[in-house]
Amino acid sequence: MRELNASQLLRVSDLEGANPPTALEGTDLERHVRDRVLTTTLDRAVAWARSNSFFPLAFGLACCAMEQFQTAGPRMDIARFGYEAFRASPRQADLIILAGRVSIKMAPIIRRLYDQMLEPKWAISMGACCSSMGVFNNYALVPADKFMPIDVHVPGCPPRPEALMHGVLKLRKLVQADPDLGWRERYGALGTEEKPLDA
Ligand code: SF4
Repeated sequence: MRELNASQLLRVSDLEGANPPTALEGTDLERHVRDRVLTTTLDRAVAWARSNSFFPLAFGLACCAMEQFQTAGPRMDIARFGYEAFRASPRQADLIILAGRVSIKMAPIIRRLYDQMLEPKWAISMGACCSSMGVFNNYALVPADKFMPIDVHVPGCPPRPEALMHGVLKLRKLVQADPDLGWRERYGALGTEEKPLDA
């Protein structure tokens, strides 16, 4: 069956006139097809597409946000990776970058923004404050992990734009490797997107 498919594939290139008529058989045919044909699964193809087209939410919390803005500048040029379409609405975004410290008052609002994003969605905690309260270790701040799932932590105070890009590319690998988001259940963060009132 596989040889039959391979022969058909080769016949297409013959019709296009790109190659002289082929008479490959057996292992030669196998090798020829292995070198020229790429197969995958639909899940992997979808994960690949998702991981190369994040739509980040245009969102900043504190000083780390200045470094985040730089990723869209000419030096880092986040458009090289296909992530330049920052969205002004959480309903059009699938990646939230928490750039800066989170106050306890701000936490429910951030969680609401996260819940409004559509599935599948991801979150990056950028900077020491967001991950561990950093230098502001007091009662007014809260680490992001306490109220929402974080996929990647980027350390530093502030992290440079290169570090954030490294984190985004780590997230890309994560999405490509394991699109299963079941671990998010422990935060009750599945299916939390808001729906129209009459739905
Ligand atoms: S980690 Fe540093 S740069 Fe980032 S918000 Fe905290 S104090 Fe500001």
